[in-house]
Amino acid sequence: MSNIKEIIQNLRKELREHNYNYYVLDEATISDYEFDVKLKELQALEEQHPEFYDANSPTLRVGGEVTKNFNTIVHNHRMYSLDNSYSLEDLKDWETRIRKLIDGDIQYTCELKYDGASISLTYENGSLTRAVTRGDGFQGDEVTANIKTIKTVPLQLKGDYPQKFDIRGEIILPFDGFNKMNEERVANGEEPYRNPRNTASGSLKLQDSAEVARRPLECLLYNLTGDNLGIDSQFHSLEKARAMGFKVPEAAKLTNSIDEVFEFINHWDKVRHDLPYETDGVVVKVNSLFQQEELGYTSKAPRWAMAYKFKAEQVSTKLNSISYQVGRTGAITPVANLEPVELAGTTVKRASLHNADQIEKLDIRVNDEVFVEKGGEIIPKIIAVDLSQRPSSSQKTEYISNCPECNTELVRIEGEAKHYCPNYNGCSIQVIGRIQHYISRKAMDIEGLGGETVALLVKEDLIANYSDLYELTVEQLMPLDRMAEKSAENLVNGVEASKGIPFESVLFALGIRFVGETVAKKLAKHYKNIDALANASIEDLEQVDEIGVKIAESVVAFFTVEANVKIIERLKAFGVQLEISADVLANQTNKLEGLAFVVSGVFETVSRNELKKLIEDNGGKNASSISSKTSYLIAGDKMGPSKKEKAEKLGVTLISEKEFFDKFQL
Ligand code: AMP
Ligand code: ZN
Repeated sequence: MSNIKEIIQNLRKELREHNYNYYVLDEATISDYEFDVKLKELQALEEQHPEFYDANSPTLRVGGEVTKNFNTIVHNHRMYSLDNSYSLEDLKDWETRIRKLIDGDIQYTCELKYDGASISLTYENGSLTRAVTRGDGFQGDEVTANIKTIKTVPLQLKGDYPQKFDIRGEIILPFDGFNKMNEERVANGEEPYRNPRNTASGSLKLQDSAEVARRPLECLLYNLTGDNLGIDSQFHSLEKARAMGFKVPEAAKLTNSIDEVFEFINHWDKVRHDLPYETDGVVVKVNSLFQQEELGYTSKAPRWAMAYKFKAEQVSTKLNSISYQVGRTGAITPVANLEPVELAGTTVKRASLHNADQIEKLDIRVNDEVFVEKGGEIIPKIIAVDLSQRPSSSQKTEYISNCPECNTELVRIEGEAKHYCPNYNGCSIQVIGRIQHYISRKAMDIEGLGGETVALLVKEDLIANYSDLYELTVEQLMPLDRMAEKSAENLVNGVEASKGIPFESVLFALGIRFVGETVAKKLAKHYKNIDALANASIEDLEQVDEIGVKIAESVVAFFTVEANVKIIERLKAFGVQLEISADVLANQTNKLEGLAFVVSGVFETVSRNELKKLIEDNGGKNASSISSKTSYLIAGDKMGPSKKEKAEKLGVTLISEKEFFDKFQL
C-alpha cells in the first residue's frame, strides 16, 4: 500500500515539475503526449485510491468546482493601491520628496506594470491555501477554486519556503490566448470580448471553475508579504519568489539611481509592444525593505512605490469613410476607414465604431480629423474628433437604415446595441456565413470544402442553405473555377461523410444564435432529438441546467422561422443525425431525474467515473459536495468520516453501491 502512495506522490512531483518547466519557464522537457499519459496514469491511481487525495494534485487543474457565492475574506495585509505619475518630472519630484525622508543611497527596483486583475495568494507549508481578489483593498472575494486552474500558479512550492506567507500578483490574459478565445466566440455568433484586462478580471468571478480552466490565464507575481521571510529587499524577494516556482517576469531590474530608472522606462516604452501581454506602465519601488518601512504609507498607497503610466499611443488621422459589415448572425458593425497611419508599431487603416450609439456619441463625420488610440484593446479605437479641423461643409452621419448586403430594412431589438438585418435566409453574407459555420471543423467538419468555395457555391446559385449541400453532384461542381474532378469528388464525399456526425455537433452546426458547442451538448443530451427541442417552450428550455432566457428565446425564435423548419426536414430526409444515436440512447433513461448524488470512496463493480457517468446518463446530477440539496450519498469503501458526518447532520440518505443498483434497477 505504501508503495502505491509513493508512486502517486512521485507522479505528482514529476508532473508538477513538467508544469513548471512548461508554463513558468516556457521550456518543456517532454512532449504533450507523454505529459498526458502520465497525467492519465495519476488520475487512474487517484481514482482507485481516494485515501491519498490531495487538494493540490496536478490532476485538479481542470477545475469542476462550482462556486455560487464567493466568500468575503479580510486580507491578512491590506492591498494598497499605487500612486501614479505621468511624466518623468513627476517621478523626479517623487524622488526629491522621499530623499527628504530617508538618509543614504536609494536603489530602485523597476518592474513592468501588468494590466490585469490583482490577486493575493496565501501559502502554508508550501501549499496554496487561499486566493483572494483585491476587492476594496481591505477585503476581497475568495476565488481559490478558480485560481487553482491557472497553470502558472504553483499548487506546491519548490525549494525553501517560509512556513506561511502571502504573495501578490496580477492575473493576466496574454494576447494570443485572448485572440483565440475571441475567434471561438465569433464562431459561436457571440460578441468578441473588448480587451484582455476586463476578460481576465471577469474570469476570476466565474462560477464554473472548469470554464476558468479553459481560459489561458497567467499569474505574474510581484510582492511577498508576511513575517520572518528572510528577505531584505524587493529585488531579493522577486528572486526568492522565482526560486519557489512563481512566474516573475525577467524584465524586473535593480537600478542605482533615478536616471537608471528613466533608462528602464524609456527602453520599455519602445519595446513593450513586443511583449506577449499588455503593460500600461512601470512600477518603481524603493529596493530596501528597511527604507520602505521608514517611508511607510499614505492612506491609499505606499510612499515607497510609484507607478509610471505609459502614454497610450495616440495619433490623428483622417476618416475617409464609414462602411458597415454584416456578420453571420446579421449583426451590423460600423467600421471607420482611416487614412493609413503608424501607431504603436503597426499601420492602422481601420477602427471599429461598434454601433450607432458610438457614432452618435463621438458625432464622428466623414472627412473629420480623428484621434486614434491603442490602449488595452487590440483593435485601435477612435477616442475623439478634432472639431477645430472640421470642414464647414460637414454633414452629420446618418446611420444606415437598410442592409448594405441585401437592402432589407434593419431592425434594432430593444436593449441591444446593434442593428440587425432580419433577412435571415436571403441576405447572402448571412447565408454564406452560416454555411461556413456549418462545415467548420468543430461543427460538421466537412473535408474537401472550404469557406471560399462555400461563397462561390452560393454566388453560383448552387446552394442557398446548408441542406442544399447534400444534393450537390460532381457534374454540377466540375464547371466551377479551379474545381478539378478529384476535388469535386472529395467535396461530395466529404458532405456524404458528414451524415455520420453526431447530433450534438449537428445542433451546434445549425448556427442558432448563442448555441455554442457546450450549450449544444447540453440541449442534445436533454432533448435527445430535434423535434423535442423544436417543440420546447421558453419555460421548458429554462429548466435545463445552465440554459438562460437569452439562449431559450433564441432557440424558440429559430424554430418559429418556417424556412428553418423546412431546412431541418430536408436534413432529416438526407440522413443527417437529428437524434442521439441508438447505442448512446440505449444506455440512457430518466430514472434519476431530479435527484442529486454525491459519490465518495472506492467501489467494487464500477470505477468512480463510471458511476458518475451512469448517474448522468440516467438523468441524475452529480454534485461535488454534500448539501441539503443532495438526495443520496453513495458511499464506497474508504469514504472519509467527515463526509459521513456531514450527510448525517444534513439528513442525507447514505446508500451503498449495491443498494444504489438495486433501488434504481440499473
Ligand atoms: P492601480 O490599480 O492603478 O491603483 O495600481 C495598482 C495595481 O497595479 C496593483 O493593485 C496591482 O494589481 C497592479 N500592478 C501591476 N503590476 C504591478 C507591479 N509590478 N507591482 C505592483 N503592482 C502592480
Ligand atoms: Zn441583409
